[in-house]
Amino acid sequence: MQFIDLAAQYKHLKAKIDKRIQNVLDHGKYIMGPEVQELEEKLAEYVGVKHAITCANGTDALTLAMMVLNIGKNDAVFCPTFTFFATAEVIAYEGATPVFVDSDEATFNICPVDLEKRIQATIAEGQLTPKAIIAVDLFGLPANYPEIQKIADKYGLKLVEDAAQGFGGSINGKRAGSFGDIATTSFFPAKPLGCYGDGGAIFTNNDEYAELVKSYRVHGKGSDKYDNIRIGMNSRLDTIQAAILLEKLAEFPNELISRNKVAKEYDDMLSGEYKTPQVPEGYMSSWAQYTLVSDSRDAEMAKYKELGIPTMVYYGTCMHQQTAFSYLNSKKDNYPVAERLAASVFSLPMSGYLDSGYLIEKKLSKA
Ligand SMILES: *Cc1c(COP(=O)(O)O)cnc(C)c1O
Repeated sequence: MQFIDLAAQYKHLKAKIDKRIQNVLDHGKYIMGPEVQELEEKLAEYVGVKHAITCANGTDALTLAMMVLNIGKNDAVFCPTFTFFATAEVIAYEGATPVFVDSDEATFNICPVDLEKRIQATIAEGQLTPKAIIAVDLFGLPANYPEIQKIADKYGLKLVEDAAQGFGGSINGKRAGSFGDIATTSFFPAKPLGCYGDGGAIFTNNDEYAELVKSYRVHGKGSDKYDNIRIGMNSRLDTIQAAILLEKLAEFPNELISRNKVAKEYDDMLSGEYKTPQVPEGYMSSWAQYTLVSDSRDAEMAKYKELGIPTMVYYGTCMHQQTAFSYLNSKKDNYPVAERLAASVFSLPMSGYLDSGYLIEKKLSKA
């Protein structure tokens, strides 16, 4: 059994994906071919935003968001400490300072109460200018945007949604990728919507931001790519990846239903033995991961291994514990919830093609 079964999905979509790839090989427009624009239109429609702009990966998508918001030296950008490295990395990459925030115990997402405390502390210290918040839809569950947006407005901060794991999730029907000023996602193969290589996208309703992203992703282009009006980067989505994503996006709503079905079956089997994932009223998760909390994680994971069920730890190290961020000296700061999660979470296999009958047969709850 695979932790994330990409082969089953390919088997299901093979004829369509193969045809799409062959089309690209036939027309030969490998960079910014017609499939890229077609995909951007369909992504914008699905997410419910004015602009979807694809790029090379989810990290670049976040970097492009930082560039558009003009984040730089002496700026503070707030982000959860319990996340994937890229969320915090892009802040530091732009020369700004990441200010880490503790997690909400129930949802694993950034804690709005701790967020406001850290903003106030940063203002009181007077060293950095608070500029933006990057909230993360961890494991597929949208962060608490109603609360976070209020805080962003109160302190005049820009809000970025890192929906690398959240694509497909929603709050009261409003889809992930549509929260905040700019949202980003990743099409890394293992994400809820993945391609067959690296890929990413930026979502926004702001026309000016959209124009800037289109320029920055092609060397800061002006009227054409040999007219360079700002320092940018090379971050385009390959046409072949766009072609693959078009077929995967068409199937995505069905996969989302089956992922939620798998999560429900896990809940039913496991809620007696573990703290199972909490989805607040009105929220929907895309289940990038199905994550359990256990005080005896190593022993639990060993038991699953014996049953032939692979498990993974996302994430065993918080950002404030990472060597690369030791220069921030944030270890002395208090992140009790995030540290507890990093020491006790582990994730079970998840995909829209999971044979849940197999899991039931293995009697997961008796693991
Ligand atoms: C995967 C991921 C990214 C980065 O995406 P890549 O496409 O791998 O660069 C950023 N943030 C989060 C939360 C992620 O899970």
